[in-house]
Amino acid sequence: MKIFKFGGASVNSVDRIKQMADILRLYKGEKKLVVISAMGKTTNALEKVAAAFFNNAKEEALQLFNHIKTQHITTAKYLLITGYNAAYEQLSQLFTEIEWALHDKPVRDYDYYYDQIVCLGELLSTTIISAYLNEKGIANAWIDVRDVLRTDDTFREAVIDWAAAAGNTERLIAPLFEKNDIVITQGFIGATDENESTTLGREGSDYTAAVFAGLLDAESVTIWKDVEGVMNADPKIFATAELIPELNYDEVIEMAYYGAQVIHPKTIKPLQNKSIPLYVKCFLDPALPGTIIHNKALKHLPPIIVIKNDQVLLHLHSTDFSFIGEHTMSHLYHLFAEYTIRPGLIQTGAVSLMVCTDEQEGKTDRLAAEAAAIFDVQVEKGLTLLTIRHYTPEVLDAMTAGKVIVLRQQSKETAQVLMR
Ligand code: ASP
Ligand code: MG
Repeated sequence: MKIFKFGGASVNSVDRIKQMADILRLYKGEKKLVVISAMGKTTNALEKVAAAFFNNAKEEALQLFNHIKTQHITTAKYLLITGYNAAYEQLSQLFTEIEWALHDKPVRDYDYYYDQIVCLGELLSTTIISAYLNEKGIANAWIDVRDVLRTDDTFREAVIDWAAAAGNTERLIAPLFEKNDIVITQGFIGATDENESTTLGREGSDYTAAVFAGLLDAESVTIWKDVEGVMNADPKIFATAELIPELNYDEVIEMAYYGAQVIHPKTIKPLQNKSIPLYVKCFLDPALPGTIIHNKALKHLPPIIVIKNDQVLLHLHSTDFSFIGEHTMSHLYHLFAEYTIRPGLIQTGAVSLMVCTDEQEGKTDRLAAEAAAIFDVQVEKGLTLLTIRHYTPEVLDAMTAGKVIVLRQQSKETAQVLMR
């Protein structure tokens, strides 16, 4: 069994969906679980619907939602002929569920509503694509992943209940493969045992693919992307970015941790547990070799450059010039946990502490306000964090030339520079 994952960019137009069908034809006769994201920027659009709804702007929410609806119906019309009516029925049911919800008033917290609304993107994309593939003779079964991936109720960052998910996979997915070579399902979403929808964190479809690889003991996972494979830098920023043909799990975890937008950070663990290789391949040209990620020790990796913008530096000074001790540190880490803020870089001194983290929706401000009870707090926003794995002095110099360096840290493998 293979697991394929197609991201939003691989299914964002009629042409791309047709291309996806071509890719599946290349693997005819093999069992495949196909995990699909929401089309293009649908998740972002649904986030706006959720925000409008939560701000009691019902009309705006409905209007934004209508736009998403029209987009999907248009795509379905372009792709489907014989399957259109049945697919339209299914899409309508999905739309109605959300529209009903939008007519209520929000009484629970934002993250709950976010998940109830945002989960729709994947349900819509898979419904249309499954119908299209069936119409084109690529027989497949569609399953609502929310019946399979049981999670807790940490909305927006739901945690999978592995035992329940394993049981459901065995009970619901295995039988589908007896009659079908292809089973299509949604990335990114799950449900609680009370059937409330949950999401696994933005870009979480990669993780879904890995979860199923683990549960189904798959031979491999292939993530189909609009790039050649994993590159050593963002090709949109660096014309000289090169393909890395082979990587290992540890390296990818490091890259993802520092913010490389290659693969969702949670993806590797389930694969590593069972040594399942991960291929990153280009859906524009499936003949290209792409990148293989597996369990080998590797030498001679090129410098891998990761740039993260919108960084905040919290500069915390002890108010009475007492040393920054373990109690203050532990207090601070509790605050990070409370606000679910992950520091990307920390530097401690005797009476001060510097913490760099992502700027997120007012969270950092609230954390800074609370930290002000024990520290003198200064906040600087709009910084860039550069991380270079396997750096060379030349690359480091070139990348920092002309910048004001705020903070710098180096180990044998990794250099990090926070820049203005
Ligand atoms: N559609 C979700 C997102 O955009 C999940 C994914 O694409 O992996 O975050
Ligand atoms: Mg995506």
